[in-house]
Amino acid sequence: MHTLTHKIRLKTTPEHEKFFSRACGVARFAYNWALGKCNEIRLETGKNPSIPELKKQFNALKEVEFPWIYDSPKDANQQPFTHLQKAWKRFWDGAKQGKRLVWNHKQKKELLAEGVKISQMSFAPTFKRKKDNHHSFYLSNDKFALEGKKVRLPKLGWLEMTEKVRFEGRVLSGNISREGQYWYISVTLEVSDAVYFKPRTFDGIVGVDLGIKHAAILSTGEPFENPKPYRTAKRRLAIRQRRVSRKQEAQLEGMGLKGKPIPSGTKIPQSNNQKKAQTRVNRVHARVVNIRRDFQHKTTTKIIRKNQVVVIENLYVTGMLQNRKLSSALSDVGLGEIRRQLEYKALRYQTLIHVADRWFPSSKLCSDCGWKNTELKLSDREWKCFECGVVHDRDLNAAINLRNLLLLPRGHSESHASPDLEGSPEMGSTREMPPVRDAGQETKHAESA
Ligand SMILES: [Zn+2]
Repeated sequence: MHTLTHKIRLKTTPEHEKFFSRACGVARFAYNWALGKCNEIRLETGKNPSIPELKKQFNALKEVEFPWIYDSPKDANQQPFTHLQKAWKRFWDGAKQGKRLVWNHKQKKELLAEGVKISQMSFAPTFKRKKDNHHSFYLSNDKFALEGKKVRLPKLGWLEMTEKVRFEGRVLSGNISREGQYWYISVTLEVSDAVYFKPRTFDGIVGVDLGIKHAAILSTGEPFENPKPYRTAKRRLAIRQRRVSRKQEAQLEGMGLKGKPIPSGTKIPQSNNQKKAQTRVNRVHARVVNIRRDFQHKTTTKIIRKNQVVVIENLYVTGMLQNRKLSSALSDVGLGEIRRQLEYKALRYQTLIHVADRWFPSSKLCSDCGWKNTELKLSDREWKCFECGVVHDRDLNAAINLRNLLLLPRGHSESHASPDLEGSPEMGSTREMPPVRDAGQETKHAESA
């Protein structure tokens, strides 16, 4: 079975938006209620409660205690229990894999200080906050209907969408969410092979170096320039954010709280002008997200569509994000997302993604003669091979080395273990390369990701 999701913008009125916000609030409330109970019960009994059991309790209480949740679709208060159950499962699965358990922010800080990596931590579910910006609620497939560019939603009736669902198939579920000032519906469908699989336009073999200067550069020399939407918008964001802050300050002054510590639980009312100013901030954020997403999709589709095999580095994105100098630039291009898109699109085009071993020195090897430049620094954008004298562009050279992993399976430089392309490569699957051996050095074993 193949599933695809299409996210479509909804054409909303202020009434719709109010309705959606309320439903998101209900979802958040149910989640937090259940999580609060979990924590309580664990404190009392030392055991983890059963989520279905909690759901029963909630359903028995809701009519009397939370009658207002009936204004929103039923799934909004039921699905969060499933979400929470999944979150706990992830957490305990992490524990089984020997990760360190993190219950709160303070613990995370302490572990980081000890030098424990984020990837070695498992995070307990946390309460959802209104300001966290993940506003969404779930709809099961019997609660909504689609017809062309329209969707019928519970209690609201027919709403217009900006486009119709792109795929034909059986609707499995829906999810309504907000991004910036807009609301979207994500429709997940079960689709046939004919819809799911797409034809490739060419059968190349390519190495892809993901980075910051170019978001991606191919071994063919084709670059994909990072549009850096956040960096471009930074100044405007700061200006607009300042306008919001000034209005907030004015409110505080009116309340006699300016420059003083604000007692917890104090509600600071927002003036209409502050709300408007905030909308303008959100609009810039939404634009940044849209530019980035558009770029990521175009780049990844282009790479996957025309190649039979794509060789990429085993990027350690979480680790790189901890490097302060790199993290802002890295989030701006969204390398993690690019990698994710490459992998799921590979499935649709039946392209093989070959992930190089984490220790494969793709930047340091001379792609002409195989000499290894052990002195290469992160800041060296160009370097000259000591052995054969060729001058390399750092990123392009890395991309070529990645491609060579498959094109020159044996005998190139030291011993790059040979991937058996003739065998039957599992299309669309991700495989790890065996470790690379450097002459005179011990083999480092990669942790499989
Ligand atoms: Zn060389």
